[in-house]
Amino acid sequence: MDDTSPDADRGLFQLPPDIIEYRDMARKFVEQEIMPLEPDYLKSPHAGYGLQPITNLKKAFPKETTDRLFKMAKETGLWYLMVPESHGGMKLSMLAQMVMVEQFMYTAVPFPFVNVPNILYNCEGEQVDKYLTPTIEGEKVHCFAQTEPQAGSDPGGMMKTSAVKDGKDWVLNGTKMWISGAAEADFLLTQAVTDPEKRQRGGITMFIVDRDNPGVTIEEPGISTWLGPTPTTYIVHYDDCRVPEQNVLGEVGKGFSLGQQWLTIHDRLMRGPYSLGKMQRAYDMCIEWSKQRVTFGRPISQRQATQWKLVDMYTDITALRSILYEMASRADSGEDVRVQAAMVKMCASDWGSRCLDHAIQIHGAMGESSELPLTLFYRYVRHFQIGGGTNEIQRHIIARDLLKD
Ligand SMILES: Cc1cc2nc3c(=O)[nH]c(=O)nc-3n(C[C@H](O)[C@H](O)[C@H](O)COP(=O)(O)OP(=O)(O)OC[C@H]3O[C@@H](n4cnc5c(N)ncnc54)[C@H](O)[C@@H]3O)c2cc1C
Repeated sequence: MDDTSPDADRGLFQLPPDIIEYRDMARKFVEQEIMPLEPDYLKSPHAGYGLQPITNLKKAFPKETTDRLFKMAKETGLWYLMVPESHGGMKLSMLAQMVMVEQFMYTAVPFPFVNVPNILYNCEGEQVDKYLTPTIEGEKVHCFAQTEPQAGSDPGGMMKTSAVKDGKDWVLNGTKMWISGAAEADFLLTQAVTDPEKRQRGGITMFIVDRDNPGVTIEEPGISTWLGPTPTTYIVHYDDCRVPEQNVLGEVGKGFSLGQQWLTIHDRLMRGPYSLGKMQRAYDMCIEWSKQRVTFGRPISQRQATQWKLVDMYTDITALRSILYEMASRADSGEDVRVQAAMVKMCASDWGSRCLDHAIQIHGAMGESSELPLTLFYRYVRHFQIGGGTNEIQRHIIARDLLKD
């Protein structure tokens, strides 16, 4: 990475020395082991949306490569970065996790670490050995099934998938849509209405549904999007799908708040480092490119039109990093940062999109080439304006908080 790039060391937020040490360890791993794989990754038909790092890596590279990376990530502990100490994790603060994930996101190649949804730690009894432990070790992967054809921004009000108790089983019927990674998942964290009167206020339950349950059908080949050459999201049908009562995650009727617990903190805060890594890389590429690309006798870095774009990118990166680190520190001191996480997600995607747009423009035609990761990065951060709850909904959450009595 360029030594002159905006960085936490010189940014508005001063990181403690131990976090700088962790950050440098993550950065070294990325530079030495992951970046050299990027040219091949960009040529792969699976060079897509990278929120499912383990699945993406396994699809894009031969087994020898992924086995070697997984082994190294596990030995260094980076694999368990986000896992709580009680489950074999590194006991890192939220701030340290965000700083390190930012380093992982510097390249298009997904970093081999396990992003266990925080709500899976609600597993109890047999669920722990069957779902939680294999997920932590990368032996099983999950997907999150909330959205439906008619229920996106308002899942609590519009969800139709139902679950009715029959003996010791629940019977699920309905259709979910836009479910990332459903085809590769071993189990689907599925929300269904168990009390139509109460709905999101005690009437939605979260079920752990095995992918090979005969009542589950996943439509192939999935939904094509601009996020990658091969589809990554799917339509899932539940037809008289019998799920044993011990596969309820958490309590019956509490599944909506469980989903919110994941989305409002874990998922939305995580969009911060996911974008920031891409923005930083785009900025570093622009500095290098603009100094050597000559038109009309001078490098384009000497033109004000280029300089202003660089300044805007630098400002967005510094501002996002400051907000993200502050919110992570507040979460570490026990503050409720649900509203702030909405702000992080909004800034990461809005500012990330314009930052990547500038980077593509500064690179001219090369910016549009798939030899470079810039359009992939752009699609990735632009998607964050929709995925995980649209930015209009994030603004609604923030406004509600600002205007409360
Ligand atoms: C690539 C991809 C991956 C996804 N992965 C998953 C997944 O793994 N699991 C899952 O459950 N879902 C997933 N989703 C679904 C995603 O969470 C929803 O698409 C998103 O929440 C928006 O819902 P919608 O598309 O139905 O938009 P709609 O709710 O129909 O909204 C349409 C537009 O209207 C705006 N709008 C809606 N209500 C209001 C309002 N009250 N005020 C102002 N504006 C409003 C929205 O912001 C949006 O701009 C994924 C989507 C995509 C594209």
